Formats: sequence, C-alpha cells, structure tokens
Amino acid sequence: MAKQVGTLTVITGSMFAGKSEELIRQVRRALYARKKVQVFKSALDNRWDSAAIATHNGVRFEAVPVSSSAQLEQLVQPDTEVIAIEEVQFFDEGIVALCDRWANEGRTVIVAGLDQDFRGQPFGFMPILLALADEVIKLRAICARCGGLASKTQRLVDGRPASWDEPTILIGAAEKYEARCRRCHRVLNAPRNGHRRTRRRLQTPEEQEAPAEEQGKLF
Ligand SMILES: [Zn+2]
Repeated sequence: MAKQVGTLTVITGSMFAGKSEELIRQVRRALYARKKVQVFKSALDNRWDSAAIATHNGVRFEAVPVSSSAQLEQLVQPDTEVIAIEEVQFFDEGIVALCDRWANEGRTVIVAGLDQDFRGQPFGFMPILLALADEVIKLRAICARCGGLASKTQRLVDGRPASWDEPTILIGAAEKYEARCRRCHRVLNAPRNGHRRTRRRLQTPEEQEAPAEEQGKLF
C-alpha cells in the first residue's frame, strides 16, 4: 500500500487566540486514530511548565522541550506519524526545512506559532512556513480594549505600550501582553512607514524606481 500523503498545518494568530487549544485538539484526534504522535515545544517557552504545553485556560498537555531544530531532528523517531510543535516561532530557521521534509516523507506535521511580533511585523521565518503549509489555520483573539476581533499582540511595559525599539528582554520592568484589534494596537515611536518594512526588504527604493528590464524581474 502506498504511504499516506503528508501534510504541513500551521496554526497561527496573535497571543490568546487559542492556538495551543487547537494544537491539543488536533493531537487528541491523532491519538484517538491510534497514530504514533510526538509533541514538542521550544525550551524558550517556560511560561508555566517545562514538560507540558499549557494553554491560557489551564489545559495541559505533555510536550518535550527542545532548544534547536538539530536537537529536534535527533528526537523524532522513524515510525512517528504525527509531529506537533508548540511555539514554533522561537526555533531557529532550520525548523522550516525540517517541517517541509517531514511532510514530504508522508508525516502529518502540525505546528503552532505567532505570525507577528508585538510591533505587528511578520515574525522571523513564519511567513516562509505559512507559504509552505498545506493548511493554515489563522485564529483571532478578542481585543482586550474594545471586545472586537483581534489579530495583534500588544506589548505593555509598566502599563504603557512598548516602543518600537524596546529591547526584547527588560530587567526589572513589569511586562505584559494582551490581544488587540488593529484600531487599539499601539506601538510607541513606530516609523511612519513601519508596516512597509517587508516590502522595503524585498526591493530597495532605487530598485523600485529602476525600469523593470534593469531589475531583471517584473515584480
Ligand atoms: Zn480594539
């Protein structure tokens, strides 16, 4: 019998959108179907418990903490049919090729991770992972300010919106995150065209002004 066709599913969205719950739901279904499942999480995510996925509503699930994609590659067993990874955005970029390869091998790969950072910018390699996915489940949270649908993660430092260049780790400051909609999301000192950063990275202003034939490509 031909081997099953693999799939890569990415569960994404802001914080508090229910990504972990959805990952756990899919893992439970695979276990009911008597598949061989392995669940991993980034060792950087020590929010609650070092050997479990914990959701914000208190549901727990056993998961092996891993610190790199190389380590993860060693831990996945040859007969594992379903590989689930929590907080995938915290891994190194090697995770992208690994997920794609596992899916090509006929495995079911389900990963959950943030699509944007607190600035509302694409998070590291996540855009690549989303592009390679067979299925993307993008979830929205509820805005902590207005109750509307939220797709952004608001970072608050000592109760005020964090600035664009605020260091990721702040010692001694009371930090907190909440889900917000586009209207209520705030980033202090954001560059006026901050949300254009992705486009600028693809084409410099000089390239944009150059005729298409000089650029050698038409997009
Ligand atoms: Zn709002």
